Amino acid sequence: MFENLSERLGGVFERLTRQGALSEADVETALREVRVALLEADVSLPVARDFVKAVKAKATGQSVTKSVTPGQQVVKIVHDELVRVLSGDGAADALKIDNPPATILMVGLQGSGKTTTTAKLAKRLKEKNGKKVLLASLDTQRPAAMEQLQILAGQIGVDSLPIVKGESAVQIAKRAKTQANLGGYDVLFLDTAGRLHIDEVLMDEVQAVRDIAQPRETLLVVDGLTGQDAVNVATEFDGKVGISGVVLTRMDGDGRGGAALSMRAVTGKPIRFVGLGEKMDALDAFEPERVAGRILGMGDIVALVEKARETFEAEQAERMAKRFAKGLFNMNDLKMQLDQMLKMGGMQGVMGMLPGMGKAAKMAEDAGFDDRMLRRQIALINSMTKRERANPDLLQASRKKRIAQGAGLEVAELNRLLKQHKQMADMMKKMGKGGMMKQVAKAMM
Ligand code: GDP
Repeated sequence: MFENLSERLGGVFERLTRQGALSEADVETALREVRVALLEADVSLPVARDFVKAVKAKATGQSVTKSVTPGQQVVKIVHDELVRVLSGDGAADALKIDNPPATILMVGLQGSGKTTTTAKLAKRLKEKNGKKVLLASLDTQRPAAMEQLQILAGQIGVDSLPIVKGESAVQIAKRAKTQANLGGYDVLFLDTAGRLHIDEVLMDEVQAVRDIAQPRETLLVVDGLTGQDAVNVATEFDGKVGISGVVLTRMDGDGRGGAALSMRAVTGKPIRFVGLGEKMDALDAFEPERVAGRILGMGDIVALVEKARETFEAEQAERMAKRFAKGLFNMNDLKMQLDQMLKMGGMQGVMGMLPGMGKAAKMAEDAGFDDRMLRRQIALINSMTKRERANPDLLQASRKKRIAQGAGLEVAELNRLLKQHKQMADMMKKMGKGGMMKQVAKAMM
């Protein structure tokens, strides 16, 4: 899903991240392209405009986290804004089903995937939550639709309300409520009739059913491939019936995923689930983080920036940078770097997050640079005295032996660490501020 948007933005950010520093003009250009990309992905104009405005306001004047490029920082800001717009309140997949029997009203246009989604949700509640579920079709216009729900119920092993010919939608809803009460059901799904287009009769019927059924949730099912139309449908249904959430179907196709963004922005209703195929298991909780990540399609730069921010305290970085600038780099500094790398997921973790660095990570692994090595090195440093850490040149052969023994390792390994430290210390002298982690990684290879 979202391939189009992803590719477009991917291109923009690739150009951004290749540049060292980001000028205001760069930000302007990038954001203009972000806007075009959003529009091409069928995000509505006002939504795209607001989105870019919000990103710009956040990007301007924000200090760039050390150890990431300004381009990566912009990616992060765009990502966070995508997540903000896409997010609903609370967990997306937590349907309100306390006080059984809880009624869930399913609404939407014909062909949107409403009946399929009803069965998918029922299966999920049965299997994940151990709920006893009853399904009822209110589609009095189309007997085939009623039978379809009955067949699906059989397939997933839940009960469906027996079909009685000649009843109105409201009568079926009443009967279903009674049955749900008597039968001790936890959840009752009411699959309302769809129409090809929104019309008054349909809305009146759904309203009448709603008043009788008093649903805990009213879920609108919309075809994710219909783009801008989906937004209009959502606006209409919300205005007339009031919806508590949206399920976007056919997100397995390569549709213009922008609909998700506009729908959320325009209606303010959370997208709760996405349909990812025809099979009964093809339903996922809507995850804004994941969708935003996919929209950006930038490896996991966002995660990198986040981790860098969390773990690499600006103060600490500054203090270290000052030491490095003076050419100071003792074993404590090295230990701090090693701890840092471990926290960020080791060599593989750090490099795996950078687009195109997967191969380099593999090479490093083959050469024996892995987390175990980082841990061994930390153990060696830990078994040094304070004085030795501050000045490793003091180390005599006898002390080296004891340090290695203390860490349960060979002296050769300690010698390698000392050599590596020496190389890094030399290198640190040449280093300025930013780009610290990158150079450390290089020094370790
Ligand atoms: P309704 O008229 O709204 O009840 O729509 P249906 O549930 O009958 O679905 C119409 C068609 O869309 C069926 O062939 C479904 O198998 C298919 N469908 C439903 N949801 C999805 C989905 O998420 N992905 C794909 N690829 N097909 C879906």
